[in-house]
Amino acid sequence: MTAVDKQAKQVDILKKARRFSIIPKDDPDQATRIRRFFTATAAYALNFGLSYAAYLWGMMEWQAIAGFLVLIPAINIILYIIFRTGLNLKFRDPSLTIVQMCAAILLTMYGMYFANEARGILLLVYILILIFGIYKLNTRSFLYVSAFTLVTYGIDIALLSYFRSDRVNLNIEYLQWLVLALVLVAFSVIGGHISSLRRNLRISRTELEKSLTIIKEMSIRDDLTGVYNRRHLMELLEHEYHRISRGGAHFSVAMLDIDHFKSVNDTHGHLTGDEVLKAVSDVIRNSLRSADFCGRYGGEEFLLVMTQTNINGALLCAERIRSTIEQSRFTSLGPNFKVTVSLGVTEFTGKEDIPTMIARADKALYHAKESGRNRVEYAD
Ligand code: GH3
Ligand code: MG
Ligand code: MG
Repeated sequence: MTAVDKQAKQVDILKKARRFSIIPKDDPDQATRIRRFFTATAAYALNFGLSYAAYLWGMMEWQAIAGFLVLIPAINIILYIIFRTGLNLKFRDPSLTIVQMCAAILLTMYGMYFANEARGILLLVYILILIFGIYKLNTRSFLYVSAFTLVTYGIDIALLSYFRSDRVNLNIEYLQWLVLALVLVAFSVIGGHISSLRRNLRISRTELEKSLTIIKEMSIRDDLTGVYNRRHLMELLEHEYHRISRGGAHFSVAMLDIDHFKSVNDTHGHLTGDEVLKAVSDVIRNSLRSADFCGRYGGEEFLLVMTQTNINGALLCAERIRSTIEQSRFTSLGPNFKVTVSLGVTEFTGKEDIPTMIARADKALYHAKESGRNRVEYAD
């Protein structure tokens, strides 16, 4: 690596460091997850405030506060690092919902052990934790988390009865455990239902968006050939007209009509006629530049719009399309059947309306037909 390369790399690293943001700007999904994680962090802070108040009022022991002061920042810093480095993306649920809930449940278990009379009221904290699962968990996961909660609370009761039996009324604890079990089961069923509603809503929205895209495409395209339909073609032409009318640039149009198309239908049937229409529209599409556009103007007539093209350029393009179609082989029509087209080309004068311009292209097309077909004519 040369010195210049090294310097460039360092500048790059510095730039990246300066660009660091607490919530990532380049990944909306990760940003949502981190924002949701911060809501949990705020809940931790509030719970700490409440515990501290309980401590001041003599209902909580100092060990709880000391433990919280170490554990809450530790849990939150570790989780933030996991989210911000993208490590969470390696998990099936990148929001780490269950991991976050279990961490909070274990912390609550720790606090409960030192809570004395406040233990009953602190059971509400479990509900608070479960609320965070509403975004993600189904009933089964909710039930697992509930079971984990009941086991940890049960361990609390067992430890209390063993080590601190003088400070605990076991009958109240058993009752609390049963009530908690009942509430958690009900919450699991309802919470699972809510998250499934949310999931279904998201699925329907995605499907609706997909359908809308398809409907939009269908409304602007011709079914058979896939080129724009006449309505959308005229809208685009109107747009081009207003753009060019402001002055300066020019554009040209060509009206293309398949020669003796009726006889294709009469001899080979309508379905073969449709195939020819598709093949002709494919040639037109492949011959135009990306800024140009075309549409099906009528039965077997196509209107081509060549942007920023004067009459000379348009004639070249029209001639290229004519000769490509002439040289195309249509196996379904037999070896000797040729399809040819005639084109009428004209350039926008800047002082006319769209129907006048199209009528002129039509007149040129009429001349091409009159002069023997399979040719390009222009009108000015
Ligand atoms: P010309 O060289 O003068 O243009 O002769 P032509 O036979 O092409 O004359 P005309 O324009 O009158 O005929 C158009 C034919 O195109 C008539 C119609 O049956 C056929 N056609 C229009 N739309 C479709 C379509 O969607 N599919 C098929 N197969 N045929 C179509
Ligand atoms: Mg025709
Ligand atoms: Mg016609």
